[in-house]
Amino acid sequence: MLYCSTRNKEKKVSLAEAISLGLADDGGLFLPEYMPKIDISSLDQNMSYANFAAVILKDYFAGDILEPSLGRICHNSFNFPCPLTKLDDKTQILELYHGPTLSFKDFGAQFLAETMNELAKLDEGKKITVMVATSGDTGSAVANAFYGKSNVNIVVLFPKGQISKRQEQQIATYDDNVIALAVDGTFDNCQSIVKEAFGNEWWHDTAHISSANSINLGRLLPQMTYYAYTSYHQYLQTKKAVNLIIPTGNLGNATAAYFAKSMGFPIGQIVLATNANRVIPDFVKSGVFTPKASIITVANAMDVGNPSNFERLHELYPDFADFVANVSAHSINDEQIKETIKSTYEKHKVIICPHTATAVYVREHCLNIEDKSKSWIVISTAHPSKFETVIEPILGIELSIPNKLNEVLHRPNLAIDSSASLDAVTKIVKHNFFK
Ligand SMILES: *Cc1c(COP(=O)(O)O)cnc(C)c1O
Repeated sequence: MLYCSTRNKEKKVSLAEAISLGLADDGGLFLPEYMPKIDISSLDQNMSYANFAAVILKDYFAGDILEPSLGRICHNSFNFPCPLTKLDDKTQILELYHGPTLSFKDFGAQFLAETMNELAKLDEGKKITVMVATSGDTGSAVANAFYGKSNVNIVVLFPKGQISKRQEQQIATYDDNVIALAVDGTFDNCQSIVKEAFGNEWWHDTAHISSANSINLGRLLPQMTYYAYTSYHQYLQTKKAVNLIIPTGNLGNATAAYFAKSMGFPIGQIVLATNANRVIPDFVKSGVFTPKASIITVANAMDVGNPSNFERLHELYPDFADFVANVSAHSINDEQIKETIKSTYEKHKVIICPHTATAVYVREHCLNIEDKSKSWIVISTAHPSKFETVIEPILGIELSIPNKLNEVLHRPNLAIDSSASLDAVTKIVKHNFFK
């Protein structure tokens, strides 16, 4: 399997290259040259999640230097469950938050870390430096996933004082090959520093910079596996395709669902839920894609004004009529999110995070009568305890903290202060990793 850019079908690269590069050199996103098909009757229903994942990702790894490592990568990455729980008779919740940092981003980050570590090993032990800017969940998932991977150093930049205490503890308490820099600036400043580093000679030639953001294929491919696994096992029970509602920001999670559907997994309708950042719902209405500055909401991991995976999803359905036949999207405001957190707790005694609440709101209020009567799976993207500052005042209760989170809350914070310039960041990185 080879991969081409969304902007140029002619130039093809290997999977290993696509993952190391992150972004194509013409600025496009990598897509497989064709979508592999699966015959679900050939699958063995007793396979473990990791084995199942390796089977469905096989075609994407075919012929690559990474192919012999796929089984090991899956085994090391997927060692936590993704249970379906019942909300009401026609609604289930797919809990994607049982990984080490309690968000669905663990699936992608763990897989990418294993893959990059393998790649560095295969490349005569060349060390890679991954730099990532974060406003929350990405940084924690990536820091945890790469921690202790001996062939990769990792630098996480976050805006000082602008992420929650819990988020900071999840990012800044690692030693060894992970450093967290508290940057005196905004998230946008952090992101500009990363972009600048990609064009910098030292970062390119000596640090071997790579990225771990959500456009990397190494995060997208593993996210297909939970849609494949869940839809397959549901189909065995019901003989029906599953309908999905997905909380959406950069469109990484949702695009993975469309990939799984294109492969032939029994997935019916896919409906996207955004917060007040409504670029996708507006596109579905108007056919015009207009990136905007992001708006701050209570579902902050979805505060995205220019969804980076749009180009990939658009390439799956280039014709607008086809796009709207496959993609519907609704924008949910903060009041509606809060109201849903409250009503879901009151009606079902289930506590959901603000991101998940956008999808539950869509389930209850945005479907037409015919669709509403069908069965749906709502995707739950994070454990509620990560967003206690939003949820506790609404519910008037104190949320219990899972052990995985509690553990990091008591470790020393090792964040290093940095001013918002590439020079300052480079100095710190040289001092820590290139002595
Ligand atoms: C990242 C994130 C999202 C958005 O996912 P995308 O792949 O960017 O669309 C939703 N919820 C949570 C909790 C997240 O961390």
